[in-house]
Amino acid sequence: MIDLMFTEEQEMFRKAAREFAETSVAPHVAKMEETGRMSDELIRALGEAEMMALTIPEEYDGLGLGYTARLIALEEIGRVSAATALTLQVFALGVAPITMFGDEEQKKKYLPGLAKGERLATVGVTEATGGSDPKSIRTSYRKVGGDYVLTGRKCFITNSHIADTITILARGEENPDLFTCFIVESGVEGFKPAHEEHKMGMRGCNTGWLVLEDCRIPGENLLGEEGRGLRIAMSAIGEVGRAGMVGCALGLHTACLEASVKFAKERILYGEPISNLQMIQNKLAEMKIDLEAGRLLGYRATSMQDKGMRASNELAAAKYFTTEAAQKAAKMAVDIHGAYGCMEEYPVSRYLRDSFLVGASAGTSDIMKVIVARWALE
Ligand SMILES: Cc1cc2nc3c(=O)[nH]c(=O)nc-3n(C[C@H](O)[C@H](O)[C@H](O)COP(=O)(O)OP(=O)(O)OC[C@H]3O[C@@H](n4cnc5c(N)ncnc54)[C@H](O)[C@@H]3O)c2cc1C
Repeated sequence: MIDLMFTEEQEMFRKAAREFAETSVAPHVAKMEETGRMSDELIRALGEAEMMALTIPEEYDGLGLGYTARLIALEEIGRVSAATALTLQVFALGVAPITMFGDEEQKKKYLPGLAKGERLATVGVTEATGGSDPKSIRTSYRKVGGDYVLTGRKCFITNSHIADTITILARGEENPDLFTCFIVESGVEGFKPAHEEHKMGMRGCNTGWLVLEDCRIPGENLLGEEGRGLRIAMSAIGEVGRAGMVGCALGLHTACLEASVKFAKERILYGEPISNLQMIQNKLAEMKIDLEAGRLLGYRATSMQDKGMRASNELAAAKYFTTEAAQKAAKMAVDIHGAYGCMEEYPVSRYLRDSFLVGASAGTSDIMKVIVARWALE
């Protein structure tokens, strides 16, 4: 029999995550929207609440809780602040190459600090040549003695200016078919975060460019083996990045539905709440059905992952569905609010802006469909 219920432990964890989001994340949202910057205090709070430790194995000071717990946490945080959920989701994406492919020395060196939130992580794959085609990257590396020297530019990198442990995908200068991942520490000479983006949504989440100019890193920072870089980066994005975006989308979708229900019950037209109007109920029903369906897709995939199974196809389907549904829900939420929906006092205008950014991150909807079509044609 398939068990589609959360365990008592998972329900308790959700309650704790919701309480954390409402008490420790919510107070930062307005300032993050205004300044477009992540709050240092919030990063510290995420560390103290062990949100960074969730998927890091216990032997490296993490909680080792797995993918379902992470999805629950991201859903609850995303319900309050999609920008914070995105920051946290890409943090785990940055940790994943080390937990999945790092050697013992690398794990011991980086994971405990990351678990405590003392270090922040990200992944630098995308370049101006096109994120959907990672083989088009131009960032190159060459071997000099026992070290590696990296040169290139990465764009649209989440946590670009706040991360200090960055997995960079590069290709061999002599042999461009040799794609390889490296751990780059932000303080190293030749590395610098450059242009910081001003995004239409997810404004508190830091996004920017990374520049590597003859950036020399020790040989021990090679991740996995030379030539395995695409596999490392794509496994982390496919298994961790997409699962995280599902969490951001589900949280945002929940927020859209809750705000719409509240408004529909309070807004009086024709002498009664607009929640009595069938056209409004139609929108609420669509939002609710999509949310329930998206949660089934997402949690099914993470429960497979927690059983040690690969779920990259299931996650591509879940990411496609939940991110498209969140965008649809955000538009309906703004519509239900009438003119109020376009005013910044109401959170739904933020939800609509944020909803455009859950799609592109960790692969666009077109790319998700390419993966799902390949799965269907197997
Ligand atoms: C908020 C945010 C955070 C991000 N964080 C990171 C990060 O931390 N690290 C990182 O490395 N990258 C990050 N990215 C980059 C992200 O992974 C890329 O934006 C994404 O892969 C798409 O690449 P692109 O923007 O260059 O679009 P392109 O690849 O240029 O695509 C342009 C258009 O062509 C379509 N397209 C492409 N290929 C196909 C195809 N085969 N069939 C049909 N249509 C296709 C796309 O769907 C899109 O509509 C982030 C992006 C965003 C928006």
